[in-house]
Amino acid sequence: MKNGINTFGKKNFTGAFSVPAAVVNDLALLASLDARGLRDGLVEAVKVSLLKDPVFFANLEKDSTLLAAGNIPAIGRAVRRSAELHARHIAGNGDPFELGSARPLDLGHWAAHKLESMTNHRLTHGEAVAVGLALDLICARELGLFGQAETERSLNLLVALGFKIYAPEMHLDGGAPMLAGLEEFREHLGGQLTLVLPTAIGKSTQVHEMPSAVVRKAADELRARDQQPCVARS
Ligand SMILES: [Zn+2]
Repeated sequence: MKNGINTFGKKNFTGAFSVPAAVVNDLALLASLDARGLRDGLVEAVKVSLLKDPVFFANLEKDSTLLAAGNIPAIGRAVRRSAELHARHIAGNGDPFELGSARPLDLGHWAAHKLESMTNHRLTHGEAVAVGLALDLICARELGLFGQAETERSLNLLVALGFKIYAPEMHLDGGAPMLAGLEEFREHLGGQLTLVLPTAIGKSTQVHEMPSAVVRKAADELRARDQQPCVARS
């Protein structure tokens, strides 16, 4: 269990870890969430499926209409599989305290953390992760790691679930504040940058460099897509 305190203007900047005896996912709690809150959690399911489980990813695609409509049984299936994959990751990696430099479930999160603070939390965590995922996926494609078709499938799934994949704040002051988020993430990891990026749906690798030109190009592409929402894409 991670407990975070918002400090220095950043979400969960300081905090403590404690290993829980058990984690309870009570689907009845979903009834207390509004549509935005229900959708918010789905982005972490997309994230973990992209890194670990192509069948789960395909199931999210198949269920996307139900998920976007807040269908509780469909959301329950996503919660269950997400929990299994996260639990297996933590058990398999043996690093529940995130002491190592590798934090391989952080896909999409460096930009998300920055966008949450840059937007004064106009974007929820999930909404910011959706934008951050889209950015990381296009960066992975630009780096030659992730295929064009897989990138389109992934972006389409985020959109089908009701997420926007661009935030105008990405281009604030020429993109410099967002890029500062990459540097902050490097410092947060103790000096060496480690980003997890997909190499296929369900498979990933780690990179230790992310050229700012690649991030800028990806942000430009997301803005162009946002300005032409009606263009059909294969
Ligand atoms: Zn997250």
